[in-house]
Amino acid sequence: MDLNQLFISLSPSCTSVAMLLSFFLYLATVGSILPGKLVPGVTLSDGTRLHYRCNGLLSLLLLVLLLGVGSQMNLVSPTVTLMLYLVGLNSRAKSSSLKPHVSGNLIHDWWFGIQLNPEFMGIDLKFFFVRAGMMGWLLINLSVLAKCIIEDKLSQSMILYQIFCGLYILDYFFYEEFMTSTWDIIAERLGFMLVFGDLVFIPFTFSIQGWWLLSNKVELKTAAIIANCLVFLVGYLVFRGANKQKHMFKKDPKAPIWGKPPKVIGGKLLASGYWGIARHCNYLGDLLLASSFSLPCGISSVVPYFYPIYLLILLIWRERRDEARCAEKYKDVWAEYRKLVPYRILPYVY
Ligand code: NDP
Repeated sequence: MDLNQLFISLSPSCTSVAMLLSFFLYLATVGSILPGKLVPGVTLSDGTRLHYRCNGLLSLLLLVLLLGVGSQMNLVSPTVTLMLYLVGLNSRAKSSSLKPHVSGNLIHDWWFGIQLNPEFMGIDLKFFFVRAGMMGWLLINLSVLAKCIIEDKLSQSMILYQIFCGLYILDYFFYEEFMTSTWDIIAERLGFMLVFGDLVFIPFTFSIQGWWLLSNKVELKTAAIIANCLVFLVGYLVFRGANKQKHMFKKDPKAPIWGKPPKVIGGKLLASGYWGIARHCNYLGDLLLASSFSLPCGISSVVPYFYPIYLLILLIWRERRDEARCAEKYKDVWAEYRKLVPYRILPYVY
């Protein structure tokens, strides 16, 4: 294939571009109309505090419903559904003004000074990209499921994979407000990692297991299915529990943890619950969940394990960066926390 052919094959068609643009327009409209809890974010390093309208779940459900109805009426083909991976809408608004605005130096800011919380027409781009990636992942999975059903290839493995991922994604949107106190929002700059990670990695590589199951048959024993469900359940409890405990602690440092008053170091850091077991127990939960998405594929190939392996590397690196950030920010208080909770992610191992 020469370069010209490659360019032509990679160029999006007018129809796909038009569909994508109308889709964004639709999402922008729906996002500003649909109700959503207005959540105050944490105070950022420049002293500002942003507010986020969390209507992602409603946006997602409406989207799936409309695509489903559209497909039934032959308005939206599965190909178009797949193409629409770039979805999502942020509805961040500054507390002082809910009116959207376009910054005159947007291009400069984008290319020469990657900001901590860039926005476009009142849309928080970081929130937008994460939301786009998560919705895209679900759409791709649903499309893979549809193909599987059409080709009469539905298996236990595919059902498990779809249920686990579907629950994880719905849970993300159900607890979307917790996102406002995560590293991505408070500390990560909008650069290659976020845009590429959210728009390419999340929707396309997280769904590798589904693609793989389309062309590979796996026989799962009952014990394997039960073990797989347990990995998902424990992972979910640790992941959601840890993130929830930290979020509640930030809102109310006296809120009980597991029914007892929390242990707090220097009035700033939580050392109870999951945060007293390891300094990033939430990463452990996420890694267990990621493994549970791949286990339905069996162990005959490493390909379906791309996501947990990628996440392991990402979270080990992320934990190191967060550790350095917290050591700098909290100084002696962090040193005391480290002494009290010596493990980073996995108790007694790491
Ligand atoms: P965290 O939610 O763990 O946020 C880290 C921040 O929390 C720190 O910078 C600090 O911020 C605060 N903090 C740390 N320890 C304590 C403590 N003991 N008490 C109170 N506050 C504390 O990190 P992430 O945003 O990276 O992760 C959030 C979730 O997202 C995780 O579950 C992770 O697994 C998941 N994730 C998933 C990815 C994926 O691709 N699937 C990628 C990345 C993350 P402060 O300065 O505000 O105190």
